[in-house]
Amino acid sequence: MNVSDSERIASQLEADGYEMTDSEDSADVILFNTCSVREKAEHKLFTRVGQVHHSPNKDKIVGIMGCVAQLEGDTLFKKTDGVNFVLGTQAVGRVSDAIKNVSKKKDTFVDLDGREVDYDWSTSSSQRHSPYIAFVPIIEGCNKFCTYCIVPFARGREKSLSASEIIREVLRLRREGVKEVHLIGQNVNSYRPETESGLEEFDGSTLFSRLLRAVAATGIERLKFTTSFPRDFHSDIVDAMDEYENLCDWVHLPVQSGSNRILKAMRRGHTIENYKKRIDKIKSSPRDISLTTDIIVGFPGETDEDFAKTIDLVENCRFDSSYIFKYSPRLGTPAAELEDDVDAETKKQRFLELEKVQKRIQAEIFNNCLGTTKKVLAEKVSGRVGEHLTGHSTCQKVVNFKAGKDFLGKVVDVRITECKTNTLHGEIC
Ligand code: SAH
Ligand code: SF4
Repeated sequence: MNVSDSERIASQLEADGYEMTDSEDSADVILFNTCSVREKAEHKLFTRVGQVHHSPNKDKIVGIMGCVAQLEGDTLFKKTDGVNFVLGTQAVGRVSDAIKNVSKKKDTFVDLDGREVDYDWSTSSSQRHSPYIAFVPIIEGCNKFCTYCIVPFARGREKSLSASEIIREVLRLRREGVKEVHLIGQNVNSYRPETESGLEEFDGSTLFSRLLRAVAATGIERLKFTTSFPRDFHSDIVDAMDEYENLCDWVHLPVQSGSNRILKAMRRGHTIENYKKRIDKIKSSPRDISLTTDIIVGFPGETDEDFAKTIDLVENCRFDSSYIFKYSPRLGTPAAELEDDVDAETKKQRFLELEKVQKRIQAEIFNNCLGTTKKVLAEKVSGRVGEHLTGHSTCQKVVNFKAGKDFLGKVVDVRITECKTNTLHGEIC
């Protein structure tokens, strides 16, 4: 979501006549788009702002945007030197105004207000991380208030974009040559626009699966979506994936813990039993759908027994990959009121143990890919080896293969011949 925000901020600045530079020293404006989901991300911001402040480039304007900006507001001016303006998560559309304001008045400026009604959610091709891939937000904010999480405070309540706006954007991207669209949101499957034309919910079909079908029907070559909230992951989503080949075979479904006791304390709204039912539905698909997840270790009160249940779950679900996080208390969340009683060493040990199990499973899954053919979008030249390209498969695995630059932007069939820790390697067939 932050990458997508940055792409939109850059697109808007470009439209307003600004130019991107690779060199910090020659920049007139330096913007930090921030994350506050874990403490580490916040610390990084203060280190980077300090570096920029003490750089030889003295006349630059420095703006802080994103989640830290929204949560800290004008206290940021006191916490660190050299910041000129602070723009909240929904104020990013007014970035040019903020720059103008501080350049004219030579005073600090804060805008934490809501989004303008005519906010432009589109991105320009020159400012996207890839010319062939685009993120399309379909829902912003979060209403779930999991007890450990700062996101609902930083990003406000859930608000869905209209289906017509989303479809128009996907059609525009397709005309521009984009091959892969990712529908994004904190919880995409909680999609529920307030006023909707043309999308109806009926028995057995949620608004999200209707949207998936409608976007898939635009004919965009590949369609992915992330993140899905387990409680709202209804079986019709898998049905839609079975119906449309361009809906890719990958689901990211963050489980967070394998213990019902901890899930309840996290207020996730799902149990291990109903999570497993969702996994069963995904695995019953005739397509081989890959499954990824997020897990937090060391949540307050997590015992060795709770952690053992998380290991069991990972063994049982056999995720293609997992993002594992050590619990980090976030001020203002309900969990931050609890004692952070799993000590740093235990958190580290649990992290390493879980990572080891996940790596073994991932290696087994990767080995099973040997000899199979993956459809890979040739995204860029592989950094390490010349004459090699790299891209993602439909199931979101990184695949490297030997090919010339003329293949860039094409979806190619690659036969897998080798697997490394996090990447597959193969040859065009
Ligand atoms: N909306 C998504 C995830 C958003 S945050 C969802 O509900 O799954 C991304 C991930 O960061 C979360 O899935 C969680 O695993 C992790 N995370 C969030 N808050 C955290 C915290 N306080 N400490 C450690 N990890 C955290
Ligand atoms: Fe955070 Fe939970 Fe919302 Fe995800 S669903 S963003 S973890 S509060």
